[in-house]
Amino acid sequence: MTNPSLLILPGDGIGPEVMAEVRKVIDWYGTRGVTFDVSEDLVGGAAYDVHGTPLHDDTMAKAQEVDAVLLGAVGGPKYDVLDFSVKPERGLLRLRKEMDLFANLRPAQCFDALADFSSLKKDVVAGLDIMIIRELTSGVYFGEPRGIHREGNERVGINTQRYTESEIARVARAAFELARKRGNKVCSMEKANVMESGILWRDVVTEVHAAEYPDVELSHMYADAGAMQLTRWPKQFDVIVTDNLFGDLLSDLAAMLTGSLGMLPSASLGLPMANGRPKALYEPVHGSAPDIAGQGKANPIACILSFAMALRYSFDMGAEATRLEKAVEDVLADGLRTADLLGEEGVTPVSTAAMGDAIVAKLSASV
Ligand code: NAD
Repeated sequence: MTNPSLLILPGDGIGPEVMAEVRKVIDWYGTRGVTFDVSEDLVGGAAYDVHGTPLHDDTMAKAQEVDAVLLGAVGGPKYDVLDFSVKPERGLLRLRKEMDLFANLRPAQCFDALADFSSLKKDVVAGLDIMIIRELTSGVYFGEPRGIHREGNERVGINTQRYTESEIARVARAAFELARKRGNKVCSMEKANVMESGILWRDVVTEVHAAEYPDVELSHMYADAGAMQLTRWPKQFDVIVTDNLFGDLLSDLAAMLTGSLGMLPSASLGLPMANGRPKALYEPVHGSAPDIAGQGKANPIACILSFAMALRYSFDMGAEATRLEKAVEDVLADGLRTADLLGEEGVTPVSTAAMGDAIVAKLSASV
């Protein structure tokens, strides 16, 4: 058996700082005989500084070969003046496009110790654990025709919502597969009441379910009703699957149910490779946070939880993912907080490194 391979792209700003804490977690697994073939490379501004491009072709080729890519964050004020074609974000977009990562997974998980951070009542969010799957490579952000043109004496803005059956079917499969690894429930959201693409979406999801995943519980909801239900009682959901536009909105809404940007992981998955593992990119939702970079203030938990997602969804190590998530939960329950999580009086913030060390210590205590 070969070790799972992982390409680490720390990127810019706080990216390298939070990634250093993930390295400690990976090293801890190594001491227990769970080893990964880890390589590291440049992305974003860091790659531009060395290669004059935010993603070198060799790095792109490596990303296509490994079992999973883990990225920190890209961007920063230093690069704002660059031409659009070489901006740090282009490196990330190239990875997503060339790896054809069509399923974006955004968990909304609320650790009990942080339930007060939510804008919703504590009992509504405490213990929340849902997953939004957003279709990422099609729909109204990509459909043609698009543009702004003149009709008579006024301008008209046009975007086209377009989905093929196969695009819907593959993201539906991703949702059902995930549900089987979680609570076995999928809720599909669209606007079949007013959009033909929504009717097709509902039909195809229903067909894929009947043919391949009858063991998973499936429900359908209009996306506007879904937004209401997400704020009313989010714990009714397990996996939500939806299109690019609705997913953009609903995943941000769901993420904020849980509080801080420093806590939110994500994954973007593509088709299975020859070894059966999906093409995969894991990254925290937050950016490079130039305002706190280099100060040891960044919360490494979003990046560490992104690695936990890699354990679960790329490496089939669900029990280890749960162990790592539990370690994070225990550290928070002990009252440890990085500066972004302060709110309670009398709590002194811990540094990025101290948070990473504490999580590793909890891992050690768990065996
Ligand atoms: P940001 O996510 O970097 O920061 C927003 C706020 O949240 C800041 O106050 C920051 O200090 C705080 N924050 C973010 N992550 C944190 C963490 N882990 N711990 C503690 N506090 C944290 O968003 P921004 O300020 O809009 O963007 C900064 C740069 O990052 C820009 O160049 C932007 O283009 C880029 N960006 C990159 C990504 C990515 O790499 N995926 C995503 C968003 C923004």
